Formats: sequence, structure tokens, C-alpha cells
Amino acid sequence: MSEYTGSPTEAHEHAIADATDGKRFGHWIDGEHIAGEGIETIDPAVREPITTVPRGDAADIDRAVETAREALTGDWGELGPRDRGDRLTEWVERLRAHQDELTLLETLDVGKPIRNAGYEVGKAFDYIEYYADLIRNEEDAHLSFVEDGHAYTRTEPYGVAGLIVPWNYPLVLTAWKVGPALAAGNTVVLKPAEISPLTATRIAQLSADIFPDGVVNVVHGYGGEAGAALTSHADVDKLAFTGNTSTGSAVMEAAAEHITPVSLELGGKSPFIIFPDADIDDAADVAATGIFYNTGQSCDAFSRTLVHESIYEEFLDAFTAQAEGYATGDPLQSDTVMGPLASQAQYEKVTDYLDIGREEARLVRGGTGDGWYVEPTIFADVSTDDRLAQEEIFGPVASVIPFASYEEAIAIANDSKYGLVAGIATDDLSLAHRASADLAAGTVWVNQYGGQEPGTPFGGFKQSGIGRECGKETLDAYRQQQTVNIALDDPEL
Ligand code: NAD
Repeated sequence: MSEYTGSPTEAHEHAIADATDGKRFGHWIDGEHIAGEGIETIDPAVREPITTVPRGDAADIDRAVETAREALTGDWGELGPRDRGDRLTEWVERLRAHQDELTLLETLDVGKPIRNAGYEVGKAFDYIEYYADLIRNEEDAHLSFVEDGHAYTRTEPYGVAGLIVPWNYPLVLTAWKVGPALAAGNTVVLKPAEISPLTATRIAQLSADIFPDGVVNVVHGYGGEAGAALTSHADVDKLAFTGNTSTGSAVMEAAAEHITPVSLELGGKSPFIIFPDADIDDAADVAATGIFYNTGQSCDAFSRTLVHESIYEEFLDAFTAQAEGYATGDPLQSDTVMGPLASQAQYEKVTDYLDIGREEARLVRGGTGDGWYVEPTIFADVSTDDRLAQEEIFGPVASVIPFASYEEAIAIANDSKYGLVAGIATDDLSLAHRASADLAAGTVWVNQYGGQEPGTPFGGFKQSGIGRECGKETLDAYRQQQTVNIALDDPEL
């Protein structure tokens, strides 16, 4: 990958020219590029436009859904699981050959540090590959015997899957959906977030000639237009959505009209509990990664740091020292660990919470930087009723809350409408198991943050969502079972 030097403005100008050179970022429908205008995608590091994508509407969604339905009955529908797995593997091999290009696009589109973007793009491929391997090796013989006959079950894809993703991990979250959806035999209509449309477009283009036309479709647009048209479409058979909880509620409401099955990956306000026996430096390291990675724009961010009162001030010193290591910088530079917020709207939202935080709690460090940058920020003495502790900020803003007993720690941790992830820092194995069971969260990370791998189910309790992604069972969210009962007559011999 080229190193971009000079001032940020010059470096980004060159990088944008390289990343977009000769490429088109229209809709991708029926194996064809569909040009259009209407949405400018901005490089948040320099607040300059990268390119424009079409502002899709209900007519574009209709066209994509129709082509996806036709593709179900064509060659794609004839392929068995092994062949579908082979096609997915071929796609991943082609995508891997474009890893640097996709990494650069992701960095420019959302301001991710390039080292993180490279890692995440590689991880996205791993998730698709996991579903390729899973479907290729799946044992289909699920047999059971009944008294006067013989019964077995088989699976059918739902059909046309409508997939909607947010902007914070554009390619990874797309992979979490397209991998199992295609492995299970569906065709897909994907609507990327309006502020991160680039990598989704490229991976669809790079699927040409591997999947039949119409199997993978991408329609750009705003959530209230293209997104709403997809979720309320009568001919979409399955919806999978990742985004915030209030949008998830609207998606579910739209899906209700046609009884469309829907999986939801929603918001979080994840607690990280530091018990008194924990190694303080290690815990501070995990706490910092948990809230500052991806500029805090992670659904699973450790945005509430619960610390036992006996180690409270010592931990705050260690946490502050760790935060110094997350100095903001130009995402294009390989040593940058924290970039800007991904959009002006997100920047404004986070700065509003900085004002709220100054009213509610004690600012230990941080605040706004230049442009759409916010420095790693720590608020201490937060109380569980504060807005800082209850609302998803989605920025590099940690809220540290003291606790006095195990019961209090668990009560505070569970005092949230969300239940996506929780973390624990302790060297006591028994305490780790006990606390994991007591925490209302879909995933518990012990002495670590972000240990998400293909094959480990991910999803939320409570208002953090419905269903699980990334696991073996995710395939079943994209297909339905059919039971066949066959009468066996008495032999007449
Ligand atoms: P968002 O809900 O605003 O948008 C997500 C997607 O939904 C975008 O593509 C958007 O265009 C679309 N959309 C918006 N309104 C719509 C509507 N009425 N109908 C259909 N589609 C619509 O969320 P965001 O701000 O892009 O993403 C951040 C949120 O996503 C956070 O709450 C975060 O916690 C959550 N998230 C959850 C997970 C998870 O796995 N649980 C992962 C990443 C992000």
C-alpha cells in the first residue's frame, strides 16, 4: 500500500484520486452498474467529498427486489450447498486480491485508521469464508423416524433477503449478513449506510461472473427512502438490520405488515466491570481499547467503566495514562490509532454529550479537537441515572462509575435498556463465571475487549436486538425448515 505524505489535505487528495480512479459507485442491480447522483460521500478527516452515489428510491428498490426474485429461480436456485460454498470461496479469493483497495476506501469513507481498516477488511473476508466452509461441510441428514412412516427435514432459503447496515464497520457488518444469506441460498438486496457506500459497491462489482446476475444487488440511498422502501416491500422474504434501536423499532414495525421475519442488531451501552483483584494496568489497557477503538463508534464499546471503590483513583490514573496513547491523527498514517468521528452529525452528537457530561460528572481528560476530531475523553464519578450512563453516545467518551459490592456492580451493569456486551476484569475464575451468568448481555468478554471470531454468536439481550450473527445458527436465520412425513405401508409380500 502506498504511503501518503505531505499535509493531510495533500495526502487525502492523492489517496482519494487513487481510491476512486476509474471506479464507479452507482447502484449494482442485475449485475449492472446503474449511475446516479444525489448523495455526496465525505472524507471525515479533511471534510472533503470523495465521490457521489445515487439517492435511491422506491423504484430502485422495486427493480432490485424484482431482479433478486428472478435470480432465485435461475442458475443460483439450481446450485447445491457445496457449489454455493465454492462460489463464496471464489468471491473471497477475488476480494483478498483487492484488500489494499478496499482498505483505502474504508479509511477514506469513515475515517478509520488505516491499520484498523486493513485488519477489519481481512476479518470481513474471514466471516464470508466461514459461511462458505460451513455450508460446504454441512451434514444434511437430519432424520427422525416415526411410528408408521419416515420423516425428515430439509431447508429452503427464505428467498430475497433485504440487508441494511450502518457505517461504523461497513464491510465487516456487510460480511456478517451477506455470508450467511448467500450460503443459505438467498439472493440479496443490500442497502449500505448513506455515509459509507463505497466498499459495499466494490464487493458487489467484484462478485460479477461468480454469482449469476441478480444474486447480489446494492441500492444506495437514505434510510427513510431506500431503506424504508426495502423494509416495507411485500416481495422481500427476510430482513436483517443493523443500526440503532429506534430505527430497529421502525424496521420491525414495517416488517410486521407482511409478517417478514426480521433479525436486528441494535445499540449498546456496555459495562466493563473492574473487580478489586484485577491487574489495574491490564484492565486500564482493555478499558481504553474498549472505548477508544474506532473512535468509540462501536455498538459493543465499553462505554460504562465500573470500578471498585478500593482501586478507583489508582485505576483512573492508569486509565488516563492509557488514553494518552490514543492521540487523534490522520487515519491515512500507519501509526494513527484514533481518527475523527465519521460524520458531522456524529461529531455534533458527541460534542453535545461532552456538554452534558460537564454538567453531570467530573471531566478527567479530553474534549473536542480540530475538525470532526474528539480527543479520548474520560468522565469520572458518573452515576447510573445520568444520561452519560444511559444513552448511547457512540464516540470516544468513557463514563467511569464507582461501586462498593458485587451486587451493586451487577445491578449497575444491568441497569440499561441495552444488553449487547459486558466485560469483566478479574483473575478470579469463579468470579468471572458467576458474574458472566449474572450479566444480561449477549456476549461477555473476560479480561479482553473485542474477541469476536467467526463461529462465535454475537447479538443482544433486551433492546440490543433479536437473533445472533457470526455463528453456525445464523444460517437458520436465513432459511426455513420443511418437514416431510412419508407414510410407510405394511409390506404386501
Ligand atoms: P441508523 O439506525 O441510523 O442507520 C442504520 C442503517 O439503517 C443505515 O443504512 C440507514 O440508512 C438505515 N435506516 C435509517 N432509517 C431507516 C428506516 N426508517 N428504514 C430502514 N432503514 C433505515 O444507525 P447508524 O447511526 O448508521 O449506526 C449506529 C447504530 O448501529 C448504533 O446504535 C450502533 O450501536 C448500532 N450497531 C449495532 C451493531 C450490532 O451488532 N448490534 C453493530 C454496529 C452498529
